[in-house]
Amino acid sequence: MKSKPTIKIIATGGTIAGAGSSSTTTTGYKPGAVSIEELLEVTPNLSDFSNIEVEQLFNIDSVDMTTERLLALSKYVNETLLDEEVDGVVITHGTDTLEETAYFLHLVIKSHKPVVIVGSVRPATAISADGPLNLYNGVKVACERQAHGKGVLVVLNDRVGSARYMAKMATTTVDSFRALEQGYIGAIVGGEVHFYYKDITKLHTMDSIFDVNTIVQLPEVPIIYSHLGDGRFLYDAAVQVGSKGIIVATAGGYTISKQAEQGIQDALKKGVVIIRSSRLSTGIVSRTSMDNQQHYIAGESLNPQKARILLMLALTVTNDKDEIQQFFRTY
Ligand code: ASP
Repeated sequence: MKSKPTIKIIATGGTIAGAGSSSTTTTGYKPGAVSIEELLEVTPNLSDFSNIEVEQLFNIDSVDMTTERLLALSKYVNETLLDEEVDGVVITHGTDTLEETAYFLHLVIKSHKPVVIVGSVRPATAISADGPLNLYNGVKVACERQAHGKGVLVVLNDRVGSARYMAKMATTTVDSFRALEQGYIGAIVGGEVHFYYKDITKLHTMDSIFDVNTIVQLPEVPIIYSHLGDGRFLYDAAVQVGSKGIIVATAGGYTISKQAEQGIQDALKKGVVIIRSSRLSTGIVSRTSMDNQQHYIAGESLNPQKARILLMLALTVTNDKDEIQQFFRTY
């Protein structure tokens, strides 16, 4: 029996590894500038309770997280977790697309071992940088027996949330990640991890049917944001570039403008799958008679960026609209 769990930290960049020109620079800095080794130098005492291994997989701004990098990261995490010596994984990531990577991993990781994703909103060089504590707390959570089997966990600002629900909701404040309707699933206080719930009701990790090893490339799926005066040209452009699906971030959650509707109907005729999501931060887009008539799929409680992640994966296994609707209910 090992006395301390072995945690592999996989670094991908972001503000947690960002560098600015001075300690008061908290905007306009460069994300992905500091190495994981440098970050660990200012994250104390991890060796008191864990054996740390590191891998610097990328060092990028998370807006440059492509679907190719996402596939590479997921395959790497799965391989890492197969190693019997590794007890859990912590991923450092930029916050802009953290929720998308987290949800993708939540759907494709084939392990009960803890997978925790952390980031920060202040660069590593800033006064009161939040990265070291978030990383420390992330490792604490990954060492917890109770973190097993919960899917991918997002840890920032002393909170633990599920990758299914956590989203970035503020541009620069340290409490930027929230799950407004569903809440957090735990908290870290004085280095102690407290879990409020056993698990979430949606399927993930070992219960998910998505197998990243069979995926060579993810399909093109853009998000189109509705607004006053919405037209059809973005739908036409999406079809032209060969999109296999489109996420419509509707203005209210249900209706779509007549102009946009025409573009959508033509896209449907070309076999493009349409998901009705919402640009609002909370609420459920449930299935209505309109979806039956127009052949849409309701995005349920996923925000547009998470709906895109699920649709990309769904399209690797089926084009059947009923089956895809079922995925949106269960994942
Ligand atoms: N642009 C940065 C990134 O996503 C922002 C951050 O990490 O907070 O990499």
